[in-house]
Amino acid sequence: MSPARKPIRRGAAVAKKPAKKAGRKAPPATSARRAQLKVVPAAVAAHSAPPIKDVEGLMAYAYALEAEASERYNEFADVMETHNNREVAELFRKLARIENIHAEHILEEMGWTSPPPPPAGGWRWESVEGPETADFTDLHYLMQPYHALQIALHNEKRAEAFFRDLVQRAPSGKVRTAAKEMAAEEAEHVQLVEEWLKRTPEPESDWAHDPDPPRWSD
Ligand code: ZN
Repeated sequence: MSPARKPIRRGAAVAKKPAKKAGRKAPPATSARRAQLKVVPAAVAAHSAPPIKDVEGLMAYAYALEAEASERYNEFADVMETHNNREVAELFRKLARIENIHAEHILEEMGWTSPPPPPAGGWRWESVEGPETADFTDLHYLMQPYHALQIALHNEKRAEAFFRDLVQRAPSGKVRTAAKEMAAEEAEHVQLVEEWLKRTPEPESDWAHDPDPPRWSD
């Protein structure tokens, strides 16, 4: 559980493996084994915390988190537009813009002129996607701004938890301080969305009822 522990490099075990001395038949078992070796570390990696070594590494994750969230909100806006749900589409666009501003802010703060490249083997989130990235299954074509903000609230809380966890795992005081700052920023986002929700009407209980449901046969 030590944060300083070397990350398992995806594929490293595979690459270092000496090629089998020319066996007669390249046994199919070898390629199967190789495939298996490739899969296992990746699966493990997906469930461990990202290996943060320094402040740059931490901020690269912070950037990726915001950028990924922004991209996803734009995709959600596209989905809502195809369903003619303009109001929620606009809200998702706004959320996308906000996340994008956060991402840009990180670039500025770090003096980066372009987005940080993902580490070798890709970003290592605890799940498949970043903690601030919403899931498509959260969408409903009749959803209301209130629902969209609930999704945003959930994401901001997850982002805050992500950095709080990194505070615990930080390999140095510098990284710990930066992770604390990021956690505090995410806590601010949580508060903003909570306030936004207070100004947003709660949906009626039958919000999902469509008097004129879409016909899929069209
Ligand atoms: Zn946030």
